Amino acid sequence: MKLVLIGAPAAGKGTQARKIIAKYSLAYISTGDMLRAEVAKESELGLTVKEIMSTGGLVSDELIIAIVKERIKEDDCKNGFILDGFPRTVVQAEKLDEIGGIDKAIYINCSDEVLLERITARETCPKCGASYNKLAAPSKVAGICDVCGEKLTQRKDDTIEAGQARLKTFHEQSEPLVEYYNKQGKLYEIDGTMGIDNITEAIFAVLGE
Ligand SMILES: [Zn+2]
Repeated sequence: MKLVLIGAPAAGKGTQARKIIAKYSLAYISTGDMLRAEVAKESELGLTVKEIMSTGGLVSDELIIAIVKERIKEDDCKNGFILDGFPRTVVQAEKLDEIGGIDKAIYINCSDEVLLERITARETCPKCGASYNKLAAPSKVAGICDVCGEKLTQRKDDTIEAGQARLKTFHEQSEPLVEYYNKQGKLYEIDGTMGIDNITEAIFAVLGE
């Protein structure tokens, strides 16, 4: 089972990925995490990546595909894998197809209105780091940290303006990707406005018991 999970910020990708991995014993492959790990290890690859990033450049598709190609040969991928954060573009999806491609693309689709509501509902504690969500997981007293009593704040990423910018980027990059997998007959669209458990159920129905 080779999967890619597509969804905008706050669509619930991370939560669903954890549930899918647990049920089907798949490997979770985040290209962002892998690059950061290589940089931290100061491997040859890591040093290359570090240099590219320090000059403000983007890691090339060739480099990322080379990393993914090696990663999916590892033991924990024998039942399959979920890719997170890759492919982001049609060009990357084409390169992925050259090394075996995927079986299914799960697209958690959600309206911008709902996503913005979720994004701006996020609150964090500047003192202890606890995080809350005014809609899904509110603090006991509004605006106050349950753990340490500090006044909660909003991350810069989670303002309306920043949220709108992140969603715009997502649409520009991912809509062609969604269309690409749709043409291949591999796209499964899930209504992301449902509750977390209903989304999970819909994904499991697509993947089979
Ligand atoms: Zn706190």
